[in-house]
Amino acid sequence: MSQATLTSPQTNATTPQEAPVAIVTGGSRGIGKACALALANAGYNVVITYARNADAANDVKATIEEAGQSALAIMADAASPDAAQQVIDQTMEAYGRIDALINNAGITRDNLMMRMNNDDWGAVIDTNLNGVFYTMRAATKIMMKQRRGAIVNLTSISGVYGNAGQANYSASKAGVIGLTKAAAKELAARNIRVNAVAPGFIATDMTKDLPTEEIEKHIPLKRLGQVEDIAKAVTFLVTSGDYITGQVLQVDGGLVV
Ligand code: NAP
Repeated sequence: MSQATLTSPQTNATTPQEAPVAIVTGGSRGIGKACALALANAGYNVVITYARNADAANDVKATIEEAGQSALAIMADAASPDAAQQVIDQTMEAYGRIDALINNAGITRDNLMMRMNNDDWGAVIDTNLNGVFYTMRAATKIMMKQRRGAIVNLTSISGVYGNAGQANYSASKAGVIGLTKAAAKELAARNIRVNAVAPGFIATDMTKDLPTEEIEKHIPLKRLGQVEDIAKAVTFLVTSGDYITGQVLQVDGGLVV
């Protein structure tokens, strides 16, 4: 698995005080970390949230700061509406603006549907779907006043096509797609774009126990995705997708063509 790295910010037109601000939920590891570093590279100050790994989150914050951007790391359970509001409030207190929101925090609790207990169903729906709603609702109040904003929600090919053994996860990620499209239609008039990225198999802690060699045989590009592959797509949608909203961009090495 390649490690996300940070070089100097590509935008030197703004000082950290003037820079746009992005929030990345679940920014302490994996895809969220790569998105946080890529957005910092693109000249954003970045607020990351995390569930448990304070050390990892503080490392991401320090890496962003070393490169000259400002960062905050906030412990905030994605499944809590109050925590979502606190993240938005703390971001506004620190920076006074929210230009981009990346809803990335997510979990799996895989099992066959007939064996899936209520807790595993509920935890995945609460974190992966309800959490996206809570953060979007709180952030868009600010973005609507600004008349500007870009939101990218992490879904999955499991949410597009379904995956056996992942009824909870597939349902949560399919819900994110519906939420993304509805929000895109509601918010377009206020110049707020809402898109989703649907990764295939990406090399992170979430997929570390899967049979990599077997999976790679089924991927036309013959490799698992790296976190940077997803971060590039997310950064493109935020920084360059001016006329793109309501879309689901699959980044999966051609797995489901
Ligand atoms: P990961 O390596 O397991 O990292 C998950 C991140 O989310 C961590 O930063 C974690 O924080 C945070 N998090 C988990 N539960 C949280 C909660 N309740 N509140 C706040 N933060 C929470 O996952 P990943 O593979 O990077 O996946 C990121 C996103 O991409 C997820 O939405 C996932 O469903 C989606 N995705 C991944 C793949 C893949 O192949 N990896 C494929 C399709 C979609 P801590 O460090 O504090 O635990």
